[in-house]
Amino acid sequence: MIDYHVHPDYSPDAAGSIREFCARARELGLEEMCFTTHFEPDPLRAGFERVIVRGEACPAATDWARYYLEDIGTAQDEFPELVIRTGVEIGYEMGVEGRIADFLDQYRFDFVLGAIHCLEHVSISGSKEVGQMRALLVPKGAEYLASRYFDYLQAAVGCRLFDCIAHLDIFRKYVLPLWAGTPEAAVFNRVVGERLGPALECMAENSVGIEVNTSALRRGEAEPYPSWDIVRRAKLAGVEPFTLGSDAHRPEDLGKGLEDAAGRLAELGILPARFCARERVE
Ligand SMILES: [Zn+2]
Ligand SMILES: [Zn+2]
Repeated sequence: MIDYHVHPDYSPDAAGSIREFCARARELGLEEMCFTTHFEPDPLRAGFERVIVRGEACPAATDWARYYLEDIGTAQDEFPELVIRTGVEIGYEMGVEGRIADFLDQYRFDFVLGAIHCLEHVSISGSKEVGQMRALLVPKGAEYLASRYFDYLQAAVGCRLFDCIAHLDIFRKYVLPLWAGTPEAAVFNRVVGERLGPALECMAENSVGIEVNTSALRRGEAEPYPSWDIVRRAKLAGVEPFTLGSDAHRPEDLGKGLEDAAGRLAELGILPARFCARERVE
């Protein structure tokens, strides 16, 4: 089994050191694991976004990644039976492509996930900012926000800085529930229906893949992010590759749900991809 979405305690919302995750991976008998700590480069959110380096909170615009890569290297020496990949999950924002490109020039990763964690500088993926979503995003309306999500997705794909898009229908988590039980929820879903096909075609054209993220299952949802229907449609649209990750933010969650998800992917003729130095390895 391989897990390609793992957050050690470099992310303030995660617990467990790189070493502790590797020890857990050994217990589980994982063959390969890719750490994908958060990097949120939006300068307008610089006041919120922190990276924890050796117990100290640092702004995202510091050289924390040097320590992160060093710690992964040390862990690889200690756990030679485990293939440990260096990855990062980058929060996309319109106009920050230059910052992302500079970061990726400066630090060498095996695998880079792109994620839509924010819309117009408001987090849509964290429980702490649900109040902000209600105050700042709900007044814009479901039609506008669903369209905006897909504008972001297509821009993130089009910049060609990412290997795969993480949790493609993350709007299921907090955004869609903002309109639960109202006619606006149907409006949101209509826009998703209209925009999904062109977005998947754009991914196939740009050779940007999709991550299947099992964290939704731990929240009691029946399907991962994205839903199996989206995975099927992506496969038909020619999207490649697909990776598989638990999005564990603590060692206990490492590998959770991956075996079942790998079985479902196999039924669709999909073998989860592995990466080394930004290239797919067989
Ligand atoms: Zn994410
Ligand atoms: Zn994540």
